[in-house]
Amino acid sequence: MSENHNRPESASHSLSRRGLIGGGIAAVLAASFASTVSGASPAFAASTYIFPTSSRTVSDDFAAHVRRGSVNPGTDYVCARNTPVVASRAGTVTLADNDNGGSGGRMVIINHGGGVTTEYLHFQQVQVAANSSVAQGQQIGLSGGSGYGSDSYYGPHVHIALKLNGTNVDFENYVGTDGPAQPSGAAALRQVVTSNGVAWQSLDTQIILDPSHISAVDMGLVWPQLMIAQAGALYQVYGDTAGWHVGNTGVPIAPSSMSAVNMGGQWPQVMSIENGYLYQTYGNSAGWQKASTSLNLIGQISAVNMGGQWPTVMLAQGGVLYRVFGDAAGWHVQSTGIAAAGQISAVNMGGSLPQVMMIENGYLYQIWADAAGWHKASTGLNLIGGISAVNAGGAWPTVMLDQGGVVYRVFGDTGGWHVASTGVTGTGRFSAVQMGSGYPQVLKIG
Ligand SMILES: [Zn+2]
Repeated sequence: MSENHNRPESASHSLSRRGLIGGGIAAVLAASFASTVSGASPAFAASTYIFPTSSRTVSDDFAAHVRRGSVNPGTDYVCARNTPVVASRAGTVTLADNDNGGSGGRMVIINHGGGVTTEYLHFQQVQVAANSSVAQGQQIGLSGGSGYGSDSYYGPHVHIALKLNGTNVDFENYVGTDGPAQPSGAAALRQVVTSNGVAWQSLDTQIILDPSHISAVDMGLVWPQLMIAQAGALYQVYGDTAGWHVGNTGVPIAPSSMSAVNMGGQWPQVMSIENGYLYQTYGNSAGWQKASTSLNLIGQISAVNMGGQWPTVMLAQGGVLYRVFGDAAGWHVQSTGIAAAGQISAVNMGGSLPQVMMIENGYLYQIWADAAGWHKASTGLNLIGGISAVNAGGAWPTVMLDQGGVVYRVFGDTGGWHVASTGVTGTGRFSAVQMGSGYPQVLKIG
């Protein structure tokens, strides 16, 4: 009956409903802006219930808790460990449990009178005492993932449960728009699509994210999947007929570079460079696992499926392009001999070795291998933005480009290389993905 955030393959995947309630994404962003501007704590007093933390990203909503039989259903907000947690409403602390045992771990319960209580679970540290009075917005502890005797049984998040006369209700239906200000980088995830390559649409997924890294993959479903690193944890973002969802893999991650890839099975794999080592993260029926390849690497990576069991990782490090690959004997690094001092994106265009698109010194380059070895050629295109390459069919990779706040499609044909604007603006963190035939999609934050 316990909730388990470490097993995302279970029914714990959730629909993040924040954007569907209380005025939608625009209202949430506007509120965030307003509380940033006004700054002072009186801003917390506007709503009956305020957000308990700076995060508005729901990794597990009330309905998902109920579906999996949670003994104390609530709403989970994704946030980094040690993020301040505040009282959602004024009241008296009736429980201040700084013991990490039990399914709730370190926790606080506040009685608001009138049969109303709020419960805050999984703290790293409780910072109030039992029987003390707390004001709305007053800090009561620091977030964590505590439970069952461990401080990291769960991925870091704040679980808040609202009880009316002892019955758990959906906090998201009661919370206003106030609370600790969101991180400034939080924005809606948008899906950029086209049916004809000319008219592009930027669709609002209704979820707000603030990831450091994002990487989209086609797992063979109608919607792309997106692996994101946010607040020290790896999340799986996916769409279905009910909307878009955020699932916490429970895997801690703080990458300097990250790339997701479909290696078959139900779950994407993620290759990441952290603290000077290359890691492989994968999901299976036992949950999500993360393993070090034992390779001491520090560069920028882009992973592709070139067949076989292991992802192939192209690596730009120290001005050289490398191919990193796994086999039964372990993981290997092989230099391509190609000078590469730019931003790379690898793609499987057929054959046994990946192609790599790279922006270097203001130009877009194509790098490929044949029987004679590796080659590098300038496309002649003078570009400076961020790139994400996909195989959209044909002989040349397609490159989605974020430059000057506009999304472009870059493609090659017998007439050379071309750049076409999608007309979609507002870029930054983005990743392109090819979903079957037709044109690429782009998933982007903001
Ligand atoms: Zn929870």
